Parts: sequence; C-alpha cells; structure tokens
Amino acid sequence: MKCEIVKDLMILYLDNCCSDGSRLEVEEHIKECEECRAVFEEMKKNAPVIEKAPSPSHPRFKRINERKASVLQSVLLFFSFALTVAGTTFEASTPSGGVNGIWAFTLIVPSVGFMLSLANWYFVRIYNNKKTFAVCSVAATFLISACGYIWAFVHYGSNVRILPFIIGIALMLLLSALSGVLSNKYAALIGKE
Ligand SMILES: [Zn+2]
Repeated sequence: MKCEIVKDLMILYLDNCCSDGSRLEVEEHIKECEECRAVFEEMKKNAPVIEKAPSPSHPRFKRINERKASVLQSVLLFFSFALTVAGTTFEASTPSGGVNGIWAFTLIVPSVGFMLSLANWYFVRIYNNKKTFAVCSVAATFLISACGYIWAFVHYGSNVRILPFIIGIALMLLLSALSGVLSNKYAALIGKE
C-alpha cells in the first residue's frame, strides 16, 4: 500500500472509524515503513484515546441503559402504587370504618414512602457514585415512611394496634433495603460507578 493512502487511513484508524481490514493494513505497513511509523507515533501522541468497543460511558450505551432503568422504575412505581391502592381499599372497607388504621400502618405508609423515594431516582445525575445514591435511596424511603407513621399516629390516635405497626415497620425496612439494592443497580446501569 502507498504511504499516502496509509497516512489517510491513520486518521480513521485513530478515530476508530475504519474497517478491521484497513486497521490491519495500517498496522502491517507501519511495521515495515519507518517514515509512516514516525508519522503515526506523532499522530497518536496528539489524538485523544478512543476505545474500540463502546464503553459504559459511551452516549449510545448510556441511552439504552437509561431506557432500561426507566422501565424498571416504572414497574416499581406501579407496584408501590398498587400497594397503596390496596391499602386504601382495605382500610375503607374495615368494619371499624378505618379508625384503627390497620391497613394504613401495614401497607399505605411504607409503600408511599417507597414510592416517593423512587422520585429520588430522577435526580440520579447529582450523585457522584452509586454508593451515595443507594444510601440516599434507603434514607429517603426510611424518612418518608417515618413521617407517614407520625402522621398516622396523629390521625389514628390511641386506636393504633401493635401488630399492623410491626408488620408495617418490617415492610418499610424491606422496601428500604430493596430501594438500596435497586438504586445501586440503577446507578451502575447508567454508569455511576
Ligand atoms: Zn509508508
């Protein structure tokens, strides 16, 4: 191959825009030709390093994963919304007319906490790494649920039964842990290592 052609191909080679065949031709040629090798080394020094395969931070890769993560987030939102609806329905149909707040304590409070903490995911870009993001997700579920419990205690007063409260706390802890694990995965998906 002529040196002129090889020099033209070098630009494409360094931009990762040439075929495997052309790459091989360039590599073979610069092994033999001293002049081209010198030119290539000089070009390489000035060119930014570009990996051949799209890396996790590659815009296209990131976009696909963000879509995946959005689907996952929507499913989770639906799940916690369904729990809230179920809790409200059960609460309204209890014989005591919802005075005891059984379903509010077992289902509504923890699932609302979890649902609201998922809103946190929309702001994932402000976090530098997945560890802080996971910790913030757990804390958000926990704090929002805690506020929900304070509200429920004020609303239902002394009619609160201990068992629904314990089950609700257990569900809240479970959802907090789930939120932490999933946000950890979510952050990894969109490249926040
Ligand atoms: Zn040459």
